[in-house]
Amino acid sequence: MVGEAHRGTTTVVVVGAGVAGLTVANLLRQAGIDCVVLERHSRDHVVRRQRAGVLDFAAEQVYLRSGLGDRLLSGAPPTGLLEFRVDGVPRLFDADLHTDGRAGRLIPQQLLVRRLVSTFLDDGGDLRFTAADVALHDVTSDRPHVTYRDADGVRHRLDADYLAGCDGFHGVSRPVVPPEALTTYRHADDIGWFTVLADSPPPRHPLLAMSRHGFAAHFGRGPQASRFYLQCPPGDDLASWTDERVWQQLRLRLADDGLPDGAIVDKAVVDARSFVVDPMAHGRLFLVGDAAHIVPPMGGKGMNLAIADADVLARALSAAVHDGDDGLLRGYSPTCLRRVWNDQEFSRWLTEVVFHGADETTAGPFRWQLARSRLDRIFTSPAAARAFAELMAGTA
Ligand SMILES: Cc1cc2nc3c(=O)[nH]c(=O)nc-3n(C[C@H](O)[C@H](O)[C@H](O)COP(=O)(O)OP(=O)(O)OC[C@H]3O[C@@H](n4cnc5c(N)ncnc54)[C@H](O)[C@@H]3O)c2cc1C
Repeated sequence: MVGEAHRGTTTVVVVGAGVAGLTVANLLRQAGIDCVVLERHSRDHVVRRQRAGVLDFAAEQVYLRSGLGDRLLSGAPPTGLLEFRVDGVPRLFDADLHTDGRAGRLIPQQLLVRRLVSTFLDDGGDLRFTAADVALHDVTSDRPHVTYRDADGVRHRLDADYLAGCDGFHGVSRPVVPPEALTTYRHADDIGWFTVLADSPPPRHPLLAMSRHGFAAHFGRGPQASRFYLQCPPGDDLASWTDERVWQQLRLRLADDGLPDGAIVDKAVVDARSFVVDPMAHGRLFLVGDAAHIVPPMGGKGMNLAIADADVLARALSAAVHDGDDGLLRGYSPTCLRRVWNDQEFSRWLTEVVFHGADETTAGPFRWQLARSRLDRIFTSPAAARAFAELMAGTA
C-alpha cells in the first residue's frame, strides 16, 4: 500500500454493527461520548440478517432506561405464552404470569438492528459500513488505534481511548488478544440441528415440539416469516434436507398436518457449540457479545447477552470518561461473565430437555426419562416454574 492513512480521533472505536456494537454506540451517544462504528458489511446486508426474535425483560429494560425504548421497541408485543408440544399434546407455559408481567417482547433481530442503525444515524452518529481490513493496534497502550480501508480503497487510521470488539465470533478483535492472556471454554456434544428460515406464517406461540419423530421448533420472525429448528445427526449433510423433506418432517414433528409452507429462504446445519473467553477484556479492548461467548440458540439468549454486555460496557465507559473512574471498567469482565455463565447453564439445560426428551432412540431411555421429568417439573411446581420464567426473562 502506498501513502499515509487518513487520520482521525474519537473516544471509542466500536468494531462491528450487530446488536452488540449498535447498542454500545447508541448508549454512548446517549451518554454524550464520541464513538465511531466500523462495520465490514453494507447497511443493506446488516439490516436484513435474520437471527433471533425474543428480547428478554432485562434487555428491554436497557433500552427503556436509556430513553430509546419508544424508537426501538414500538409495536413489539409481549412474549406471552410458550408452547411445549409433547407427543402432539400442547402444554402452554405462561412466562408472564410467573414473572409478574416481566417476560419480555417479541422483536425480530433484523428489525431491532434496522432501528438501532437509523436511531444512531438520525442522532448524528458516525457509522462506517463496508470497512475492509479492520485491524486493531496497541490495545494495551493508553492510545490504541484501528486501521481499515473504506469502500474506495482509501486507508484510514482512528486513534481512540478505548476499543469495543463487537464483531462476533469470527471477528478480528478477539484474535488480537494473546492466547496465553485468555482462558477459553468450549463445549460441544452429540446434539445436531438444522435450521430453516421460511416465508411462512409464525406460530400462535413460540413452539417447542418433542416426540418420537425427533425435536422441532417453530418461532415467528415477522408477520410472514418463521424460523424452524429440526433435530438431526451432528454434522448432517445439508443436501439431504430437500424442501419437500423439510415440510414433511416439520408436519410430522410438530404434529400439524395443516402447517402452511412458504418459500425457504435459508437453510443451515447449526453448530451447537458453547464458548466463553475469560477475561472479556485486554488492555483497552473490551469484547462484547458473540465476540466473547456463544450460547446454544434454544435458550434465546445470544442477542440478549450481547445487549447486557453492551449496557455494562457503556456505563463503565461513561464513568471512566466523565468521572475519571475506571473501577467499572475493571469490573466489566467479571460482571458480564456472571450473567454469561448463568445463561450458558440455562441454554444447555433447555437444549437437553427438548432434545433428549424428544427422541428416546438417540438420547437413550435414561436421558429421555430425565428430560421428560425436568419438563414436567415446570408445569407442576410453582417454584420451578418461577425459576424457569425468571431465567427466560433474564432477571434470575
Ligand atoms: C441462525 C442463527 C439463529 C439465532 N437464533 C437466535 C435466537 O433465537 N435467539 C437469540 O437470542 N440469539 C440467536 N442467535 C444468536 C444471536 O443472533 C447472536 O448472539 C447475536 O447476533 C450477537 O450479536 P453480536 O452483535 O455480538 O454479533 P453479530 O450479530 O454477529 O454482529 C457482529 C457484527 O460484526 C461485523 N463484523 C465481523 N467481522 C468484522 C470485521 N472484521 N470488521 C468489521 N465488522 C465486522 C459483522 O458483519 C456483524 O455486523 C442466532 C444466531 C444465528 C446465526
